[in-house]
Amino acid sequence: MKTIINYCQIGILISTLWIGSFVSSLYPAKLTAAADSYGDLAYQYIQEISNQYPARIANSSQKTAAGNWISDKLQSYGYPVEELGFDQNGYHFINYIATKPGKSDEIVYIGAHYDSVNTSGTDDNASGVAVALEIAKRIQSINTEFTIKFCFFDGEESALTGLGYAGSCNYTSVKKNTEAHRALCYINIDCVAAGDILYAYGGIYEKGSLSKTMAYDWAMTSATAAGISLSTLPVNVEMYPSPTRITGSDHHYFNSSWGIPYVYFEASRWCETDGSGGNSDTNKTCWYQTKDSHFESTGGRIMHMPQYDSFSALEQAFPGRIHKNLSDTVSIIMTMLQNPDYRFENECSDPTRNNHNAGSNENMTNNDIIEIINFASIKNYILRFLHVLQQ
Ligand SMILES: [Zn+2]
Repeated sequence: MKTIINYCQIGILISTLWIGSFVSSLYPAKLTAAADSYGDLAYQYIQEISNQYPARIANSSQKTAAGNWISDKLQSYGYPVEELGFDQNGYHFINYIATKPGKSDEIVYIGAHYDSVNTSGTDDNASGVAVALEIAKRIQSINTEFTIKFCFFDGEESALTGLGYAGSCNYTSVKKNTEAHRALCYINIDCVAAGDILYAYGGIYEKGSLSKTMAYDWAMTSATAAGISLSTLPVNVEMYPSPTRITGSDHHYFNSSWGIPYVYFEASRWCETDGSGGNSDTNKTCWYQTKDSHFESTGGRIMHMPQYDSFSALEQAFPGRIHKNLSDTVSIIMTMLQNPDYRFENECSDPTRNNHNAGSNENMTNNDIIEIINFASIKNYILRFLHVLQQ
């Protein structure tokens, strides 16, 4: 009897392990509590950056040290790192770029700025750096359809330098002739830790119609597949007609200079769909970051507030939120990178880019395309089913 029970127990254990490993291979972030769940590494990094290198302002030693730290991390994952330094208005800037070759030389950019104003810059933008680094580490050994460039931009903050998005502006200028023609889209990660709601913005309105939503659509589809709630702008925000946000961070020049689609991830809080919300400072755009009573005195604003944009203040105000937001952002982008659905979109307005995309699609056979569709559909179906089970 005892032996039979033991065999049964072993059988159940093996079945559990098999099913567990099958499920976790499909849905690693949500169903496992392993040490390497999505967001764990980013959560460790956001603490290291904001505590060891606060106030990463222009020309400061902290900013230089943070840049070196990022470069060391990338090299430890096996990436060669390109250091692109330049001087402007008496300030010295360095962008750090790591490239992961893919099956094609078309490029998906993933960018986050590592400078800050005179705060710890936990949300703005150690959060984006931490997420991009975790993704760089995770994707390094995975084959991808396209080449990925991880961009850690300097000089996004303008208060001290008077320059707007200096790092990404310089990058899109110096690389325009060699890279813009094979650039697919730009994924921007800026302030994804603190805000109440995780948003994605994308697309532009040209002559009254919405275009270049490829990266945004890709993010939305991937979030659904991963079972993660991803919101977009409410329709009543005047300055940025939903779902666009064509400026405000490093995606600006990838859109305006290169004309490629962008998606911009931000945890924030926009006014409600009935127009309520916002505050006296920000009611022009109905933007604020939280409704939480800790932040009443700032009208819900966390960004650029030294007493609030620090790891300890945010963790105290929102226990568990930082990890969840980082985990969700990593999960969505990892799902994007492994689901090349972008190939079925072809909406870039630049005719040379359309030709280029058409050329690359010709290299795929019908069987390749059917296989990708089938795999994506089956996987998405299982992911959604598991998500329902979790509710
Ligand atoms: Zn920022």
